[in-house]
Amino acid sequence: MPLLELNEVTIKFGGLIAVDSVDLTIEKGQIQALIGPNGAGKSTVFNLVTGIYPPTSGTISFKGQTINGKKPYNITKLGIARTFQNIRLFNELTVLDNVKIGRHCRSKAGPFGGIIQPPSVKREEKEIEQRSLECLRLMDLGDKAEELARNLPYGEQRRLEIARAMASDPEILLLDEPAAGMNPQEKMVLVEKIKKIREMGLTIFLVEHDMKFVMGISDRVAVLDYGKKIADGPPDAVQKNPEVIAAYLGK
Ligand code: ADP
Ligand code: MG
Repeated sequence: MPLLELNEVTIKFGGLIAVDSVDLTIEKGQIQALIGPNGAGKSTVFNLVTGIYPPTSGTISFKGQTINGKKPYNITKLGIARTFQNIRLFNELTVLDNVKIGRHCRSKAGPFGGIIQPPSVKREEKEIEQRSLECLRLMDLGDKAEELARNLPYGEQRRLEIARAMASDPEILLLDEPAAGMNPQEKMVLVEKIKKIREMGLTIFLVEHDMKFVMGISDRVAVLDYGKKIADGPPDAVQKNPEVIAAYLGK
């Protein structure tokens, strides 16, 4: 059974078909890329999978269970985490607190956990902190825990977002253009981190505009153009596909 499966998924915004009958199958442990020109519908696919928008038609299944219409919070709890195309950090909070927020969906204490503190809540708080620090170390940010998020260099802010997503203990991690705006050195560090996450047994669903970036790390690459999937396969085959080349050069 595939980990994540999209079956003829469509979403319309008024007259615009942003995602048009897309089929996609992601197997556990793979790095699946989704590429395509700007406006192709890549981020919208993530918004559909994470429950921000319900599809107009089609089904999205996670481990064989339909997740259409589920709320984002519940989808996160099932084991799907994401980062956003534009950085969404709490700039005035510490690096550690930004990650702890990502752990919230696993918390039993509820919103009043911070006020009323029976021993079980204190224990849980400690566990949240430990796990958040592990996620920071995974992203080489362990020594930045007490800094304000806004003081991190850009490449580290992007890795902090990944650390926060990892704090929800996902089985699949959705990364929306994680390398955007990074310099070559920052990109190299990021590639290493993405590979490490996969070695931990996670599945990665990677949206990228930059074709070169995904070719080196992806097991499979799907290509969207005007909402339609025009190619899907191993990176070398997709790279040579004339329809893909035409989409990138602009027909
Ligand atoms: P990509 O991530 O591939 O660059 P997007 O998924 O962000 O593309 O957008 C695909 C298309 O859907 C674009 O034309 C965009 O303007 C449109 N779109 C995305 N979200 C909305 C929305 N909430 N309302 C209306 N149009 C939207
Ligand atoms: Mg996008």
